[in-house]
Amino acid sequence: MKAEIIAVGTELLLGQVVNTNATFLSEELADLGIEVYYHTVVGDNPQRLEQLLVDAEKRSDLIVLCGGLGPTEDDLTKDTVAAHIHHPLIQDEQGLKSLHEFFTFSKNKMTENNLRQTLMIDGGIAVQNPTGLAVGTLITEQDTTYLLLPGPPNELRPMFRQNARPLLEERFPQKEQLISRVLRFYGIGESQLVTELKTLIDTQTNPTIAPYAKPNEVTLRLTAKIVDEVTGQQLLDNLESKVMDQVGEYFYGYGDENSLAKVTVDALKRNGKTVTAAESLTAGLFQSTLGDISGVSKVFKGGFVTYSAKTKEQFLDIDPKLLEKEGTVSEACAIAMAEQARKLADADFAVSFTGVAGPDELEEQPAGTVWIGLAEKGQPTVAVLQHFNRDRSYIRQSAVMKGLDLIRRAVDKKK
Ligand code: ATP
Repeated sequence: MKAEIIAVGTELLLGQVVNTNATFLSEELADLGIEVYYHTVVGDNPQRLEQLLVDAEKRSDLIVLCGGLGPTEDDLTKDTVAAHIHHPLIQDEQGLKSLHEFFTFSKNKMTENNLRQTLMIDGGIAVQNPTGLAVGTLITEQDTTYLLLPGPPNELRPMFRQNARPLLEERFPQKEQLISRVLRFYGIGESQLVTELKTLIDTQTNPTIAPYAKPNEVTLRLTAKIVDEVTGQQLLDNLESKVMDQVGEYFYGYGDENSLAKVTVDALKRNGKTVTAAESLTAGLFQSTLGDISGVSKVFKGGFVTYSAKTKEQFLDIDPKLLEKEGTVSEACAIAMAEQARKLADADFAVSFTGVAGPDELEEQPAGTVWIGLAEKGQPTVAVLQHFNRDRSYIRQSAVMKGLDLIRRAVDKKK
């Protein structure tokens, strides 16, 4: 069973849009035990799409196309696939009903070309779109199955999961499936992680280990080919415990959804603790990162952005003499900021950030020098010195990640 994904859209070729649909679909298909052999991108051009279909059907059993199901003239995926397999386009009645309901409800004027979105390829199964208007199609012709999905990820994802995936499961029942587990690490680079795990990686067969470096963190995807769920989970458990023996001190969570911010918020919630922050070089980025996590209001009380020396004095009541003597990029300043923020917000924990985001140096300290303070109720306040490199945005992002990790470890009482 070989599959491939064709993303249609000139905006993808121009680099204006990242092909995240291919990543999503590949993961979903792997989960169904369907192996993806090719990803291609083609512009809104019927001749080139037709040529690609000719090549694709020689090498793949399943061709998933995304994009080009919209109402306009350049949305030509359906027409091209229909012509390629010599089937006409027909009206999908359920799609048409949803279209009318949408326009009645929104009171917008429907135009003639909206009807194009509710066409499907004759002989196939209509794939309904729970969050949009374009109807997809699943159709098998000779030995090739075609699945047509829209481009916008907020339409494609629910449509695939709710409506296309069950059809594929039925059509391609797999004896052998793949299951994956994602382990997330902070505080270790990809090269070091791979070096530590060299023997395990070199001898991998089933499950396999795939490292992936993201900004400021590394993930490991463990993937097992399984015949049944229980044996598969055991295979993953065994490999995971070997990985943990080597690099467990850097592990912080599982799964694509569990960012360091989410894991930190969860740890605070679990322990019934609250947090605040005083931010200089990060200028609110730490608090904004917390704000991205739903339910954070249970643990985050609010905090301070004190960019200048003056606001450090005014908002946090820090002694100007301390700032004059030690400088703002200093251990003393980070400690004072964290301590004052914690007290003023009456929180269990506070983190502070002061440093040089760059590119210019400050107080004779180079860009990337960052002090991060950590205050905890009933504990001595500490500050750690970090030297981050790369650009301004990366330095600020790295500081936020380190702040999250300090809190997470302090909450869970990990060193
Ligand atoms: P619409 O009804 O919105 O026209 P469509 O099926 O015709 O839907 P496109 O016009 O190809 O889809 O793409 C619409 C938008 O969806 C693009 O501008 C882009 O933002 C997003 N998009 C398209 N393809 C992809 C992709 N492969 N990965 C991520 N986003 C995509």
